[in-house]
Amino acid sequence: AKAQGRGTCCYFSADMQNEAEDRLRLEQDLRQALTLKQFRLDYQPLVSAADQSLVGFEALIRWHHPTRGMVSPAEFIPLAEETGLIMQLGDWVIEEACRAAAVWPDFISVALNLSARQLILPALPNTVSEALARYKLKANRLELEVTESVFLGDSEGSLDVLKRLRALGVGIALDDFGTGYSSLGYLNKAVFHKLKIDGSFVREAANNRETVAIIQSIVSLAKSFRMTVTAEGVETADDFTRMRDLGVHQIQGYLFGRPMSFERATDLVHGVQTK
Ligand code: C2E
Ligand code: CA
Ligand code: CA
Ligand code: CA
Repeated sequence: AKAQGRGTCCYFSADMQNEAEDRLRLEQDLRQALTLKQFRLDYQPLVSAADQSLVGFEALIRWHHPTRGMVSPAEFIPLAEETGLIMQLGDWVIEEACRAAAVWPDFISVALNLSARQLILPALPNTVSEALARYKLKANRLELEVTESVFLGDSEGSLDVLKRLRALGVGIALDDFGTGYSSLGYLNKAVFHKLKIDGSFVREAANNRETVAIIQSIVSLAKSFRMTVTAEGVETADDFTRMRDLGVHQIQGYLFGRPMSFERATDLVHGVQTK
């Protein structure tokens, strides 16, 4: 049996029941995963477009599930958001990313992802400033990445939290730029220091002149707001050259490194060639 469209309900098929049970089990596992220390952060390098030197890392969460293996954040982050677990999990990410940043030299920034739900919390700026203090980190070592979805719900409240975070001196990046409910209005809020162009644009630019033109205007717009522009999902040397020549400042993608363990990231910082 096939699920009917919205509003034409329907009955509960066996497939749907299995799916629901599976989800429930995953949700229960997720609740325990923090205590059981099943999460870790991997770090993906960001390089300067000008000379390909390492400028920072983006922290990306990983869940090593005892029987399912690696569960993708694309799968469990939405679940964590719906159940409210994202609050605790988000605090853990902040703590862990600061701990890593404290080990690395000052010229290495560390970016972490925030869910829209975390920005509803008025306590978030406090959490961040306490973590910075605990690890004796300058605020500019840390970047927080948010997507345009933060402006969907309580956008006034979220904007206020973002402004307070910005006032601490941490960077705020607008992630996945171009994929959302775009968007130019958000740029004018004076909270973002960086735009991250989504990887789908970067790859599409290889075959599509209109996409190149879009990226071109994103870059010039960002520059007029004095924002840094990062291109994500750069996989080939051609992608790299194209983005660099379009004026993108920083590059992230498999070409320069997949997300890697803290240990390997530390080796990379120290110039050790790892495969
Ligand atoms: P994102 O923030 O847009 O992260 C970029 C995603 O693109 C990552 O997927 C990364 O592994 C992948 N990627 C990087 N370079 C390339 C490339 O060259 N080609 C391709 N095809 N992909 C590339 P990942 O790690 O699976 O994360 C997926 C999403 O999960 C992230 O998208 C982010 O929205 C979310 N996420 C990850 N970690 C966290 C976290 O700690 N907290 C929150 N709230 N969300 C997180
Ligand atoms: Ca991100
Ligand atoms: Ca992104
Ligand atoms: Ca994304």
